[in-house]
Amino acid sequence: MANSFECFKCGGKGKIEAFSHIENGDCFQCGGTGRLMTREQRAQRAKEIAAKHERDLEVYETKLAKGCGLTLKEYRHIADPKRYPREVAA
Ligand SMILES: [Zn+2]
Repeated sequence: MANSFECFKCGGKGKIEAFSHIENGDCFQCGGTGRLMTREQRAQRAKEIAAKHERDLEVYETKLAKGCGLTLKEYRHIADPKRYPREVAA
């Protein structure tokens, strides 16, 4: 990773010898990679994960709505009226 930095816990080795009896000594801080993401990289990754979660949720809820004979909008309003208030007809 271009702008990642060396893991402070394992010194970039990805392993901690003193813990070789646990999970083969893989560093839990960096997941055994020896590198850590910057704050910006973590924020970007969190955004990507959240966007994927939204897409997956929409696919899942569309299936549930279909099973109930509802549109996604109708289903979401019934399931969570605070987040999805009924749209007022103009
Ligand atoms: Zn590490």
